[in-house]
Amino acid sequence: MLSNIASSLDNTNQQIALACQKVGRPRHNVLLMAVSKRHGVEKIRQVYDCGQKDFGENYLNEALEKQTVLRDLPIIWHYIGHIQANKTRKIAENFAWVHTVDSIKVAHRLSKQRPDNLPALNICLQVNIDSEQSKSGLLPDKPDLLSFAQEVRRLPRINLCGLMCIPAPKMTKVAESETFTAMQSLQHYLSDNGVKLTTLSMGMSSDLESAISCGATIVRVGTAIFGQRPQLH
Ligand SMILES: *Cc1c(COP(=O)(O)O)cnc(C)c1O
Repeated sequence: MLSNIASSLDNTNQQIALACQKVGRPRHNVLLMAVSKRHGVEKIRQVYDCGQKDFGENYLNEALEKQTVLRDLPIIWHYIGHIQANKTRKIAENFAWVHTVDSIKVAHRLSKQRPDNLPALNICLQVNIDSEQSKSGLLPDKPDLLSFAQEVRRLPRINLCGLMCIPAPKMTKVAESETFTAMQSLQHYLSDNGVKLTTLSMGMSSDLESAISCGATIVRVGTAIFGQRPQLH
């Protein structure tokens, strides 16, 4: 018998496989990131022991504490939280990926602070795809995004991989896939203009299928694997 968490991970992987199959994409095209924010290290270890290697965290201090406890595991850590410019050094030193870059200043600092003994830092540019007032991210303006991407690409210790979004909640599947299609169209636009990006980081527990049908290469799944997040106290 699989434990709860093992079977949730298994279900998520099957869901991804099925979504890939439906649109004729190979399963290895899509990476599953397990989003472990607010879940304890024992659960992370359990998920790791089921074969999951990539984990995402939103809160820097929480992530650093977990990384210390779990340093015996070769986990690939992704930073997916908001970035304060004065916190970039710790991010540059302790993560393989950063999905939430949306300022030139932050990009420059991450490049400068990335330790020499580590490979270039993989990053995604966060796009505020629904142009929400309250949300971080670059606005989905094609020429602006292109010049931003061109500048970031010149940074020596950064590997610009792709685009990331956190869409506004959607009422329908159609609206959901319109947003993801808009992300794909930004990716194609950048590619047509000489900035080839391999990564689209989009899709969470409730919308990963439509994200995959629109070209997602990294899905970020929390609740479907770990269950509801404990409340902050
Ligand atoms: C929390 C979070 C997720 C995971 O969301 P679930 O709905 O729990 O799957 C994915 N991406 C980001 C940026 C998040 O903050």
